[in-house]
Amino acid sequence: MASPLTASRLLQALRDEGVRVAEVDGWRDHNRNHVGRWGPVNGVMLHHTVTGPGTDVVGLIYRGHSALPGPLATGCITKDGVVHLTANGRANHAGGGDGDVLNAVVGESYGDRPPATHEHDGSDGAVDGNARFYGWECENRGDGRDPWPRVQYVAMVKATAAVCRAHGWGHRSAIGHLEWSDWKVDPRGIDMTDFRRDLAACLALPAAQWEGDDDMALTDDDVRKVADAVVAKLLAGGGVLENSDLDRVWGRDVIPAARPPFHNDDYFEADGKTVKNPTWTAKYTQQTQIEGIRETLTRVKELQAVLAALDPAALEAALVARINGLTATVTVTDPQEN
Ligand SMILES: [Zn+2]
Repeated sequence: MASPLTASRLLQALRDEGVRVAEVDGWRDHNRNHVGRWGPVNGVMLHHTVTGPGTDVVGLIYRGHSALPGPLATGCITKDGVVHLTANGRANHAGGGDGDVLNAVVGESYGDRPPATHEHDGSDGAVDGNARFYGWECENRGDGRDPWPRVQYVAMVKATAAVCRAHGWGHRSAIGHLEWSDWKVDPRGIDMTDFRRDLAACLALPAAQWEGDDDMALTDDDVRKVADAVVAKLLAGGGVLENSDLDRVWGRDVIPAARPPFHNDDYFEADGKTVKNPTWTAKYTQQTQIEGIRETLTRVKELQAVLAALDPAALEAALVARINGLTATVTVTDPQEN
């Protein structure tokens, strides 16, 4: 049983966690506490907004719409990773859900996933989630294709960690809307088990230390996009690399050139001092190496031919004749004493 954080405590917790926070005017007194309970609180719920560019998504979460009055969440986490505080108290985000899921969250007594939900808003056995969960509405089309920018995802983990840390909760106190209501699919494109693993990593560190996992899991949609791009490139270019790619790499005139006398007649101007051509392209460097190897092979072959033509007996006879012709005179002088 936990009492809700005050507005100031929530704001401080977010700031302590290193989250970029924006306060929407009036958020401290904005809630749905007049129509239902707020608290005891037991967890944090993640959502997607089903909005694209050009929507005043923060205004939407603050005000709500004709069918659903605002606030629609505690805060709205936009794609740029800013947490816009829109409510202090009960908000219209969770609706009815499964009491077994609530119990599993309260006890943090499940493994990777809470028990499957069999309830939704208005169903006979549904319990009120708006009283029990803080809510983050996260800007995303929710179509399964709209990406979750890393900066936004990190903000979602950290904002959730801020609330959990302030209450002393663990990572199992965070669930996705789809884990609460069997009508819902949000936050689409995020695997809540992965999210909770990152949340656990964040909570294991002091506040504001976690900056995200570099090898953050790609969503299935990300993987599909990469695969599609590779196939498109293969089909369009006839290969992974097109000639233009090869030229870009092999044609860059940046490799230090060999200095004379090695294969570089135009290294200097005619004066032999002023540097004229000090760099080569990779293509030319490679060509020069091949020419050098060919030249070396030619000379080795010539040397082999000379060695093969040698007659050891003739060599020995010539050597003996030379030695016999030598006259040596050795003069020995007594050393002087000093
Ligand atoms: Zn939702």
